[in-house]
Amino acid sequence: MMNVYKMSRPNYSTFARIREANMKYPPICSSCGRVGDRVRPLSISFKDEKPLGDLTWLAPDVFVSEKCKAALEKLKSPDFSFDEVEIIGNRKDRIWHLKILSKCKFTPECNVVLLEECKICGIRIFSTWDDGIKVGADCHAGLFRLEEHAGMIFVEGEIKNYLISEHITNVDFIFSEEVKDEFAYLRQRKI
Ligand SMILES: [Zn+2]
Repeated sequence: MMNVYKMSRPNYSTFARIREANMKYPPICSSCGRVGDRVRPLSISFKDEKPLGDLTWLAPDVFVSEKCKAALEKLKSPDFSFDEVEIIGNRKDRIWHLKILSKCKFTPECNVVLLEECKICGIRIFSTWDDGIKVGADCHAGLFRLEEHAGMIFVEGEIKNYLISEHITNVDFIFSEEVKDEFAYLRQRKI
């Protein structure tokens, strides 16, 4: 099992937060009514004049500063790429959408169950998980999303330590096994 951490937005608000993102939404499935793979925002605007954090959050998207991009590029990893996003307003900053290309899976012991699969668009909806999140040893990515729950971003322990040593701001790292299902009371279980 891999030692992985969920990257998330800290509770403090030292850094600029996004007011709005201009999106070109993907088409909605005529059968299940869901949208397909999310497309990146075309431009964003900020709520305030606070300084830009090295990560900026707009779940499930995350944007990175020039400094964070440079630090990640040093890893020469196939796990992600960068698309520059326009900032609407007077800021001089530059910002990039972090496109995460790698996906891993929960281990079977997490008991994540396929609930629905759309026959038209193929979108699959999974249950949440038992206890904390565990990722299998067959995951070889350093920075990835989970196939079953793509809204979250995870990073392997050594990369987490590297980002901390580079003083990357505006991110918390939560040990994956401490990431519990907030909606456990809605949990659908295997019969
Ligand atoms: Zn569908």
